[in-house]
Amino acid sequence: MEKKKQILSCIQPTGDMHFGNYFGAIKNWVELQDQYDCIYGVVNYHAMTMPYSPKKLRENTWALVFNLIATGIKPESIFIQSLIPEHAELCWVFNCFTSYGQLTRMTQFKDKSAQNKELGADSFISAGLLDYPVLQAADILIYKADYVPVGVDQEQHLELSRNIAQRFNNQVGKEYFVLPESLYTEVPKVRSTADPTRKMSKSAGEKHYINVFADEKRIRKQIRSAVTDTGDTPEGKMSPGVQNLFELLKASEKMEAHAQLMKDYEGGQLKYVDLKDAVADALVEISQRFIAKKEELNSNKKEVKNQIKYSSSIIRQRAQQTLKEVKDLAGLMNVKF
Ligand code: AMP
Repeated sequence: MEKKKQILSCIQPTGDMHFGNYFGAIKNWVELQDQYDCIYGVVNYHAMTMPYSPKKLRENTWALVFNLIATGIKPESIFIQSLIPEHAELCWVFNCFTSYGQLTRMTQFKDKSAQNKELGADSFISAGLLDYPVLQAADILIYKADYVPVGVDQEQHLELSRNIAQRFNNQVGKEYFVLPESLYTEVPKVRSTADPTRKMSKSAGEKHYINVFADEKRIRKQIRSAVTDTGDTPEGKMSPGVQNLFELLKASEKMEAHAQLMKDYEGGQLKYVDLKDAVADALVEISQRFIAKKEELNSNKKEVKNQIKYSSSIIRQRAQQTLKEVKDLAGLMNVKF
């Protein structure tokens, strides 16, 4: 049987999971599990690159693990980054194969350091923020990933991973690392229902995202108050708010309702309340399923945590093997394990 291609993707533990995260990333991760060998990392080292609280980081890391399992990721595919310290060691090796200039030109570094500056007196731009894409290269290359499902915003980082892999391969005179490719899947861009001109995101505040574990009442309230028409959409064009509601219906796979409501829209008969009810029903159905699964996981917290520590230890064996080979190739002594 042909070996399945390796997929690697990571997510930072930064709090609630919203429908933008779910429809834009996690749902795709769940579906990829059928076709590929998937490894998904909860990258807590990365979450230290912006101002953070240690207590919150620990809580958010476990919360994200539980959320991922509740939304359909297999526990055996999940690792917690800090349980595999080889990522950080490979990052050091890679630092020595990375151009400093290239790092300073990364768009995300520029954006995030500007964000930090906006924090004012507390602003602090760490070397970790600059180095973040090198750690990301280590996350990917340590598992010899063939594909990385990325959004356009991450393409520049993946290019850096390929540059590092190539530079390393050239230095050691061997095609050791696989050059990872991006895996594009059509995923929706979900917008804030409170302000459909911006994307759904936690950073803009609570009304700008819908938590996938929110209770029915809250979801219905958020959808009922979704902005539809602000009166400034050109004649004959669908407003961003209405587009977003249709997008949510499609992402929830309610194609029949989508088709019917679209027909109403095209015939000039659409009642926004019907569209909103259909979207709310669809999101509530999904969230109820996730809440039930999470309750089940919460009643076995210790077992779930042990399971993830175990899966991390199994995934770690692969990372250890790569790091051992890298150190041999790079002229570094190895610890026996
Ligand atoms: P974040 O926690 O904001 O970094 O989001 C994690 C991942 O979720 C991102 O890499 C995106 O792929 C996805 N994502 C976040 N917000 C949205 C959104 N509004 N629409 C679609 N995908 C999103």
